[in-house]
Amino acid sequence: MSGSEDKLSDYESKRDFTRTPEPGAEEAEFDWADERPVFVIQQHDASSLHYDLRLEVDGVLKSWAVPKGPSTDPSEKRLAVPTEDHPLQYADFEGNIPEDEYGGGTVLLWDRGSYRNLKEDEVDDGEEVPKVAEQVADGHLTVWLEGEKISGGYALIETGSGDDERWLLIKMKDSEADARRNPVSTERESVKSGMTLEEIAAQKDDGGEEDDG
Ligand code: MN
Repeated sequence: MSGSEDKLSDYESKRDFTRTPEPGAEEAEFDWADERPVFVIQQHDASSLHYDLRLEVDGVLKSWAVPKGPSTDPSEKRLAVPTEDHPLQYADFEGNIPEDEYGGGTVLLWDRGSYRNLKEDEVDDGEEVPKVAEQVADGHLTVWLEGEKISGGYALIETGSGDDERWLLIKMKDSEADARRNPVSTERESVKSGMTLEEIAAQKDDGGEEDDG
């Protein structure tokens, strides 16, 4: 059994794959990612609207729910709540999860690309670079994102622990920092389909299979 199957037991136990269009734990290939590892940000209109930031780490997508989405302004700290690991194939997912299923609601693929471990730039020659998985376990990671909307250095920092565990997503001060941009509100379309959240949501009513009677 591969390690990623163990990590995805939480993901799989929450979902009925005969009902949700979300992917299981099959192999993943992405025609939009020349380089790996990948990251995605999915806008998710569930019980509350949020953005799911997912980073490929050791064969799964490490995930955080970010209520306000990412900022390009280093002075903004965005709450990021860890959620269960998702399968790699989820990085291509967009669509409508049935309302009565776990996470029910519309998912829009808001940004996608590759990322690299910024600790590679910080260590001296010959020193071992802390792996991203180790940084996640330590509650402090720094990555350089190369997305279509979001790019540059981001830090994810854990504060609190146990039931109070919360993380902060913070734009680092670099060439990509820009306090005037606000892509969450100005660049709302999907990078996959070009659709808005409303347009994707409208598709669930087009199938004609649902019977409200
Ligand atoms: Mn979500």
